[in-house]
Amino acid sequence: MLLRWLERPSVYHVDNDELYEVDDQAFEFLKRCALKGGSAPEEGEFIAYCLSEGLLTERPRGVTAAPVRKSPEPSLRFLELLITERCNLRCRHCYIGDPGAEELPVADIVEVLDEFNRMQGLKVLITGGEPMMHGRFWELNDFLSGYPLRKVLLSNGLLLNSRNIRDLNVEEIQVSIDGLEASHDAIRGGGTFKRAMRALTLALDAGMDVSVSTMIHPGNLGDFDEMERLFRGMGVKEWTVDVPCPTGRMADNPGLVLEPERAGRFLRYGFGGGFHSGGEGFACGLHLVSVLPDGGVARCAFYSDRAAGHISEGLERCWRRIRPLRLSEIGCDCEAVEECRGGCRYRAELLGDPMGKDLFRCAAFSREAGTPG
Ligand code: SF4
Ligand code: SF4
Repeated sequence: MLLRWLERPSVYHVDNDELYEVDDQAFEFLKRCALKGGSAPEEGEFIAYCLSEGLLTERPRGVTAAPVRKSPEPSLRFLELLITERCNLRCRHCYIGDPGAEELPVADIVEVLDEFNRMQGLKVLITGGEPMMHGRFWELNDFLSGYPLRKVLLSNGLLLNSRNIRDLNVEEIQVSIDGLEASHDAIRGGGTFKRAMRALTLALDAGMDVSVSTMIHPGNLGDFDEMERLFRGMGVKEWTVDVPCPTGRMADNPGLVLEPERAGRFLRYGFGGGFHSGGEGFACGLHLVSVLPDGGVARCAFYSDRAAGHISEGLERCWRRIRPLRLSEIGCDCEAVEECRGGCRYRAELLGDPMGKDLFRCAAFSREAGTPG
């Protein structure tokens, strides 16, 4: 349980990845319990209720509670940390392209996490490249246990094994799986499907939450129903489905590019949360920032060529420079706008107009499009 003073006083259930708004009185009470270590005797019944609901916990997490201060507005809830450019795969659809060797020093990562925690952050997404290729990954992993945040490792799964999985100080592992065996291996390399699935199984057996990320490509269009059955059956918590952007290595593989009408329908697949969505009245990325391997701070990883600043200036200073985009500013006027929130702004830009429609999302929300598959 993590007390967070966001736009409204809130409680974040780190293990369940659920955020609750509470009123001022409840917030003050919880703050007293969490930070001062005590409560009045007449509050015993309420405490018992909170314990039974998992809102309070007696289990020591071995961490120091961050001082509760008001977050900036909009609040920064999700931090995507691209800790390294290195990767052990050469996926044909990778938006990054051929990997360099840049990586964030551990000391810088720790500073960024400290500041994110003070800013009332909720969830950190550790990614790359392949994050486990970071030269000092295990040293960084040791530091992670000191943060009360929800830590998610986004990996291709290849470096996970039965010996190291239980040493990871993360609550969730997200593995990229881009289809059933044939279509996944065709894009990621022979034998990688089995290894990715093995990583999922190991993480589940170790009691971690697991999620899956899937990119839509011409080879996997017939796989989605079966993938859904597979992932639900295994107990996958969240399944993110997206369309790769034609940048990086994908630009050298034009055969992988799908038209919005063809690919967009598959965006209806997937389940669980997602950190890209905006908030009421705002477009995507309202509560998200990305820290790049060179220390740049950008709206999201796709905007690496337009960083808002550098971590050496401080995360909060960079965050305050990123202007949230209102739905009223973009050219979306359809009924689904509050649900879709204009889709992905970067994709809209690639389609010709950063303030235009994300035609892939339009296809996903189109009533005429019928059932995917
Ligand atoms: S531009 Fe696309 S990738 Fe970036 S935050 Fe928005 S939805 Fe996510
Ligand atoms: S469905 Fe299309 S028009 Fe509607 S909000 Fe999404 S991107 Fe905009």
